[in-house]
Amino acid sequence: MFDKSNCGNCEGIDCLMKCQWIDFDGVEDARSEMNNMIENGDSRVLSECITCFACDEYCPYNSHPFDLITTLQEKNNSLDVNEGMVQRMVKMYEPHSDFKPWDDIDPDKPTLNKCAFIKTNSEDMEGTMFDDLQYVGGRDFFCNLLYHHIAKDSIIKERAPQILENIEKQGIKDMICFHDECYGLYSSYCPRNDIELPDGFNPIHLFEYIYNYLKDHESEIQKLNIKGAYQRNCSNRFMPETDEYVDKICDLIGVERVEREYDRENALCCGGPLPMLGKKKLMRETQNKNVQDMLDHDAEVVFYNCPMCMETMGSKVERKGMKNYLLSNLARKALGEDID
Ligand code: SF4
Ligand code: SF4
Repeated sequence: MFDKSNCGNCEGIDCLMKCQWIDFDGVEDARSEMNNMIENGDSRVLSECITCFACDEYCPYNSHPFDLITTLQEKNNSLDVNEGMVQRMVKMYEPHSDFKPWDDIDPDKPTLNKCAFIKTNSEDMEGTMFDDLQYVGGRDFFCNLLYHHIAKDSIIKERAPQILENIEKQGIKDMICFHDECYGLYSSYCPRNDIELPDGFNPIHLFEYIYNYLKDHESEIQKLNIKGAYQRNCSNRFMPETDEYVDKICDLIGVERVEREYDRENALCCGGPLPMLGKKKLMRETQNKNVQDMLDHDAEVVFYNCPMCMETMGSKVERKGMKNYLLSNLARKALGEDID
């Protein structure tokens, strides 16, 4: 939930001044647009925003400006998304009203949430790191944060309690989230919107799980000794503290995370939401400068947390001679698995 209490005394208006997608004529222009949103519920920011969530990380006061932006975008219908597409997307991930708990889930063991990737990315959740984990997945455990990209925050708010109820019925305590976005729902979105988590529920970021697994199997690691560019994804803006695990995993498996311009706080969105917003040209331009930045820093591979980022950028990356991997698959490769 947006907290406006620090905005009046905010000197830098970093949330907007650091935005890579909207130009402001100095800090007073940015302040004026922020005031327009807070006081009048409208601003050009709403239609120019590409929903990269980065302003949430840029704000030094943890005030969650993207929560203000997304709720106003919905209220004012600011994003130019085809209504038919919106309705199809909303229906596609709707949780079942008659959820039946999965068989054989032991509440005392950790559970992998395969999320919406349960079919499309099943091969990415195999191997020694994943084979012994029990799992759930599909729309009954889907976080729905995707709907920020089409200005439907109300859908997330409506469904979050239902997903949490499913988790409670299933009795899951320790849940490893395959996708960063699921972890973002439980660790950031729910607490900041006063949505209560089930007692004893403990979401675990995939990279924390991988790091701990690698530490326990350190003697089996064969260092990869490659240079890689990380494509950081949008939902990670809600919990930037988890980014430290990327460095720790890279250290363990022998991947040099190249210190390029568009990484860490200055990461560039993969461009995935842009075609839906009628901005295909901007997507091409953005991806070109992002990939060039990878090449300029001698990356041999590009690695991702998010399968959708990899899908969006993968072919362009490959055409430039670099290979695409989920970071989890690079970890599996370092453990000796046959991953190409
Ligand atoms: S949201 Fe944060 S960065 Fe933006 S004006 Fe308010 S306090 Fe400043
Ligand atoms: S979500 Fe991204 S594009 Fe939108 S205002 Fe925030 S930083 Fe800018």
